[in-house]
Amino acid sequence: MAEKLKIKLNGKPTFYRGKGCDSCLGTGYKGRVGLLETLVLSPKIKSLILESAQEYQIREEARREGMRTLRENGVQCALNGTTTLDEIVRVTVGDQDLDER
Ligand SMILES: [Zn+2]
Repeated sequence: MAEKLKIKLNGKPTFYRGKGCDSCLGTGYKGRVGLLETLVLSPKIKSLILESAQEYQIREEARREGMRTLRENGVQCALNGTTTLDEIVRVTVGDQDLDER
């Protein structure tokens, strides 16, 4: 799964999955959490926006400056057991999907 996502992982991390029970109707999920992606408006990003740069140029600069994508933040949630990798794949897009648009 991690290979399909084209994400880099350190070592061999453990991913969790709830086995399900009556109170979660067998899904193994309960409740919701917010997943965020934050674009910091650095001077470089601001000037790109002012220059009407393409979205991909802004995205690339943001990544250079260390922005973590929605999916990367989601993978972190999967690593700490808050959710599953399947769920993250379902609700986020990867950079490769963006480039194919
Ligand atoms: Zn349950």
